[in-house]
Amino acid sequence: MYRTHTCGELRFEDSGKEVTLSGWIQRSRDLGGMTFIDLRDRYGITQLVFNMETDPGLCRKARQLGREFVIQAEGLVTERSNKNPNLPTGDIEIVVSRFLVLNPSVTPPFTIENESDGGDELRMKYRFLDLRRNPLKENLLLRHRMAMETRNYFNCHNFVEIETPFLIKSTPEGARDFVVPSRIFPGQFYALPQSPQTFKQLLMVAGYDRYFQIVKCFRDEDLRADRQPEFTQIDCEMSFVHQDDILDTFEGMLKHLFKTIKGIEMDRPFPRLTYEEAMELYGSDKPDLRFEMKISNLTSIIKGKGFPAFETAEYIGGICAPNCSDYSRKQLDALTEFVKKPQIGAKGLIYIKYNTDGSVKSTIDKYYASDAMIQWAEQLQAKPGDLILIIAGLKPVALKALCELRLEMGGRLNLRDKNKFVPLWVTDFPLLEWDEETHRFYAMHHPFTAPKPEEMEKLDIDPAGVHANAYDCVVNGVEIGGGSIRIHDEKLQEKMFRLLGFTEQEAKKQFGFLMQAFLYGAPPHGGIAFGFDRVVSLFAGEESIRDVIAFPKNNAARDVMIDTPSGISEDQLNELSLKIKKDNPAN
Ligand code: ASP
Repeated sequence: MYRTHTCGELRFEDSGKEVTLSGWIQRSRDLGGMTFIDLRDRYGITQLVFNMETDPGLCRKARQLGREFVIQAEGLVTERSNKNPNLPTGDIEIVVSRFLVLNPSVTPPFTIENESDGGDELRMKYRFLDLRRNPLKENLLLRHRMAMETRNYFNCHNFVEIETPFLIKSTPEGARDFVVPSRIFPGQFYALPQSPQTFKQLLMVAGYDRYFQIVKCFRDEDLRADRQPEFTQIDCEMSFVHQDDILDTFEGMLKHLFKTIKGIEMDRPFPRLTYEEAMELYGSDKPDLRFEMKISNLTSIIKGKGFPAFETAEYIGGICAPNCSDYSRKQLDALTEFVKKPQIGAKGLIYIKYNTDGSVKSTIDKYYASDAMIQWAEQLQAKPGDLILIIAGLKPVALKALCELRLEMGGRLNLRDKNKFVPLWVTDFPLLEWDEETHRFYAMHHPFTAPKPEEMEKLDIDPAGVHANAYDCVVNGVEIGGGSIRIHDEKLQEKMFRLLGFTEQEAKKQFGFLMQAFLYGAPPHGGIAFGFDRVVSLFAGEESIRDVIAFPKNNAARDVMIDTPSGISEDQLNELSLKIKKDNPAN
């Protein structure tokens, strides 16, 4: 028997028991006549003790053990004289009578501690060692519990988990497909699914009215912050439902997860904002509602008084930062630099200090009377002591900058509390997005999203003005899920493809199977997918989804541990009828 107990299990009540433990050596300390070893496994750490006086031979042997050796130790559970209240096993230690080295270890390239001395890349290369560290272990265990609770919830609500294939034909979800060459059909390719979208809709046609799956999705996207080429979704679809049924079901899922995993009771229903409201009030379709600081449109009350930057602006908006009227020149300059960063793009920042004595001080004192500025302050519901920050410019640019500034101020004022969770549904997204570059419409969600029935007529005259019953779930400014009511009518789907620039043949070739299925009694249906990695990282309080994935890719989409992507042999290429172009102009 390798072990009678785990390294996290023994307590004071176990004193006097003869036990056997197996695990890794976290650290060892020689203190005069004693040697202490912390033995670690997934469950915790237990202290082993060796005594030079009572068993010098064993103690000398123990002193030769190195970090990360795997050993098996037998001994007596004994009360510690020097208890460690920070360790669940801290009241006891094992006085070892025998031990065996099960496998030695070379010195690990970084310390296996909560705070490691290893850099990112090194820890990625030795991910199997990094995964031994507590923070990552806790994240993976959390992920497991969340997957189990997700399944529990769906199971209790009549959903069935059904697997869908990975070798498919491309589904356009806005990214490039990863493709897999076929050996049997030279020159032909499978695509890896960007999501199981069409399959889950086919399952609805097949009558499985409540489907879910915790599933890998693959998207060959350009490198963006915190994206992984393969990631996991909680993917769902339901038949005979309206938008409210879907939002209700998935609020329930999140509530269940918050309750069972974090012990937090979420109030329901979750707040809702339409896409347009979210953009106007927060400059973003994924606002962080942990704090207020809404954006006010000041265009009509500010324009027309002679300040040049305002006169030419399409839009002028402001936010009110509470209790910041004492911001120094230096702090205000830093904020100005912040909004002028190229990725934010504002031309400048105007401030009005609404001082505690009720007076105002501003960058634009010359152009406006104090009374006027107090009036603007009031529009922003400012109180004496607050700081008003104003940005002017093209509306989308100014709103984006105000959004970033709001988040920055929220951060500075400690209003983005990691332990507070505020959910939100953003609804009524536009159906289509016009792309100036390619001069065509793109589906804002995906091409299977239905227009709002009451706006159907507008589809021919003003497609850009049509909205969809499409919704995103946002928590603390992070988009964790999104979905829509789908088209279930063959004619409408055909029309949608046409609007998106597909010829009839292209649409038939790519999606004939779906349109065909719609001819055989497709029920009204809709669904949603949650980014599982993202939900777990939110629960774990991690910034990056990498920290909740066992074996992620690095920022350049490489797996540096197994060293891939990598070449394949000439034989494999031949089998697949492939030849590598040496001078590919795309590279
Ligand atoms: N397939 C969609 C996505 O991956 C989600 C959905 O519409 O259900 O974003």
